[in-house]
Amino acid sequence: MSLPNKSHGRKSISASVTPRDLMGQDERLAHVWTADIITLFPDSFPGVLGQSLTGRALTEGKWALSITDLRLFGDGKHKNVDDTPAGGGAGMVLRADVVGKAIDHVLRLQKMKKPLIFLSPRGQVFNQNMANEWIQGAGVILLAGRFEGVDQRVIDHYGIQEVSLGDFVMSGGEIAAQAMIDACVRLLPGVLGNAASIEQESHQHGLLEHPQYTRPNEWNGRTIPDVLFSGNHQKIDEWRRSESEELTKTRRPDLWSAFKPR
Ligand code: SAH
Repeated sequence: MSLPNKSHGRKSISASVTPRDLMGQDERLAHVWTADIITLFPDSFPGVLGQSLTGRALTEGKWALSITDLRLFGDGKHKNVDDTPAGGGAGMVLRADVVGKAIDHVLRLQKMKKPLIFLSPRGQVFNQNMANEWIQGAGVILLAGRFEGVDQRVIDHYGIQEVSLGDFVMSGGEIAAQAMIDACVRLLPGVLGNAASIEQESHQHGLLEHPQYTRPNEWNGRTIPDVLFSGNHQKIDEWRRSESEELTKTRRPDLWSAFKPR
């Protein structure tokens, strides 16, 4: 079988948020943060990332998505990508040779080094620190699994890091990929309307966010705490900070004990 050439098995998503495959576009987007996804379900992208602020930023070229269809690297006439587990048991496993070819293809296209991640419920659980770290680099390469996952030799051969969305099992890595990319992209300058809002958010400094209120001032007999109308910004900050600490203490003792008040 001949290997797909550079432009095969790949779709880049940008300006029109429709699948495209243009080398020129690669040049234009060469310097923006790019998420490369290897998936059996390329049509699930951009998915929710095409909406609202992340969608607008994608259209504006503030970040880019490059989707590689794993099926195109499949074996034989039927483009098989999976087979039964060695040793028996339920389900199917993504084949090492097929996934390896797809990874090699994506690695060859990279101009800069990026972390290579397998989305997996066995991985380290994704968190805000990871998002903050990933966004500092050129982007990420995410391998979305399906079925029972991928042949272990692929993970060992490339030294792939496994990252989980949480302690539950989904049918595929695509939703996890979108969740993680969303968490990263919204940290890019100019993606959120108000950069200051990132600073105070839950998890950004190890605390959960304080309660938020907006109009109407009274709703179903419930009012907004008076301090928020005081106009005294120091007092408001103190109130928010204390609410943040209280919420974190009661809801997430794990976060609270890791938090070092500064
Ligand atoms: N047999 C595997 C689960 C396979 S689920 C196990 O027990 O560990 C199928 C695919 O969905 C996985 O390969 C992975 O890519 C994705 N997936 C499922 N749950 C996930 C999670 N919590 N985080 C990230 N990816 C997940």
